[in-house]
Amino acid sequence: AKAAGRNTARFFDPVMQAAASARAAIEADLRVALSNREFVLYFQPVVNELSQTIGVEALVRWLHPRHGLVAPGEFIPVAEQTGLILQLGHWVLEQACAQLVVWSEHADTRRLTMAVNVSARQFRHPDFSNQILTLLRMTGANPYRLKLELTETLLLTDFDDVIAKMSELRSIGVSFSLDDFGTGYSSLSYLKQLPLDQLKIDKSFVRDVLTDPNDAAIARTVLALAASLDLGVVAEGVETAGQRDFLLASGCKAFQGYFFGKPTPLEQLRLETAPDRFG
Ligand code: C2E
Ligand code: CA
Ligand code: CA
Ligand code: CA
Repeated sequence: AKAAGRNTARFFDPVMQAAASARAAIEADLRVALSNREFVLYFQPVVNELSQTIGVEALVRWLHPRHGLVAPGEFIPVAEQTGLILQLGHWVLEQACAQLVVWSEHADTRRLTMAVNVSARQFRHPDFSNQILTLLRMTGANPYRLKLELTETLLLTDFDDVIAKMSELRSIGVSFSLDDFGTGYSSLSYLKQLPLDQLKIDKSFVRDVLTDPNDAAIARTVLALAASLDLGVVAEGVETAGQRDFLLASGCKAFQGYFFGKPTPLEQLRLETAPDRFG
């Protein structure tokens, strides 16, 4: 009865009410947007020690007919709450795979990897592995070029199920990154058990890495940890040469951030790729 009372009270809270109706409006718009294909993928380069592009991360944007370009922070949470993330996520994966196929046809782009963000709800769906397998088969994309980015929220439940799914997809060549590393809940024992390929140092640690000794220590610790667990690392949110140099000196070999390139639509993506030494 107490819980019900609280829920009733919440309904009359004008702030909550406004938030709820804003969410309902976004939800209604999202449904239309999915059928009208109002989404676009932006791509942000991931570079190596020599600033050569080794891959990209796909970042979705919503080209809203009235509000213009909407950042994912505005609608991904609503898409997650409503389950619309399943459709949106599928669309993102489909576009990403199709782009990998285009890149596979040119010598200078064929080794690029494509990182795709996958929501916990999307990954947990019983059909997720099948979706990936079907998309790879239908598009002909190389699974070794596809990197799925998961966040630590995924690790809160069904840990064995998560491991089983990751292992299944890894067995065909798909790789996994743990996104926003350090901001979530993962314990070191979880980290050791997960079939991961890579950690992404969250940009909140990179931002003040030159001025905040704690952030510098965290960045160095993540790099050392990753090295001992045999995981790759991408530092995200690198905005200055100074940040890059610090991370490079600490052993980081892959970087992403405005210093190297902002997320851009495909047409504006300039790819300073590594020479294709393998023919
Ligand atoms: P994320 O996966 O951590 O992506 C990195 C975010 O950092 C992106 O924000 C990117 O634009 C931003 N960023 C990149 N370099 C810099 C930098 O140097 N400085 C700063 N300050 N920011 C930088 P964006 O594109 O707004 O995306 C926000 C979040 O939305 C993503 O965070 C990801 O969690 C989510 N997201 C984006 N696309 C998708 C998607 O297709 N599916 C799902 N499930 N989530 C997505
Ligand atoms: Ca990401
Ligand atoms: Ca991230
Ligand atoms: Ca993030």
